[in-house]
Amino acid sequence: MNKITNINNLFKENTFNIIAGPCAIETEKYLYKTAEFLHNNNIQFIRGGAYKLRTSPQSFQGLGEIGIHLLHDVANHFNLITVSEITSITEIEIMNNYIDVILVGTRNMYNYPLLKELSKLNKPIILKRGMSATVDEWLLAAKYVSNIDTNIVLCERGIRTFETCTRNTLDLASAVWVQQNSNYNVIIDPSHATGDSNLIIPMSLAAFGSGCNGLMIEIHPSPKKALSDGKQMLNFSQFSELLEKLHKMKCFLTT
Ligand code: PEP
Ligand code: MN
Repeated sequence: MNKITNINNLFKENTFNIIAGPCAIETEKYLYKTAEFLHNNNIQFIRGGAYKLRTSPQSFQGLGEIGIHLLHDVANHFNLITVSEITSITEIEIMNNYIDVILVGTRNMYNYPLLKELSKLNKPIILKRGMSATVDEWLLAAKYVSNIDTNIVLCERGIRTFETCTRNTLDLASAVWVQQNSNYNVIIDPSHATGDSNLIIPMSLAAFGSGCNGLMIEIHPSPKKALSDGKQMLNFSQFSELLEKLHKMKCFLTT
């Protein structure tokens, strides 16, 4: 049973939603610790990849089905909403049955057969921007999923530019442009946009200050031991620091 029917209802209740969790689901112990931490901090969503699309075939490829079941069970224990990436049409059934919000990653934004299949499900979708997609292409990809329903949120995760000091270039202006020129809620993923844990807090505050609708952030109990994307992951105390700063900024903006 899905914990939510339409993801955009959550954005009506709470204008800024935070999704956090590991890049990849690794062990039950880490996942449990992360879920418990999120629950204690009133975060509603947990993310975690089971099917990982890694640049190198030698890198950890994810736990697959086992990971999906782990995420489902641990999240249920803490009543968290699950977000996990689909990488192929063959994963539709398991995702539909066990995951609350299906994430379409940057590498699949152009996978139109997958988007068409997803549009047949009555399922919340987060659609990331392709790493070299124009805003127009991103919005058209969203139409593949949302021409039947409006159960979709867009996520800016950085684009490829000539700059190499960050993993990608966070295109915050385009995210705000999309909000101003469409009806979509847009969230920001500073983790994949920067690839650098030192930049997550400043970019998250910039996203909040710009009026974006939320964040997707990679966190891990011990980022140094993470099997993927350790360099961009926040540990729990850094994530708590971010929450505190967001809270202060919210108070500042509303007074
Ligand atoms: C992810 O969010 O797990 C992910 C792989 O991100 P992206 O598709 O943006 O690279
Ligand atoms: Mn990652």
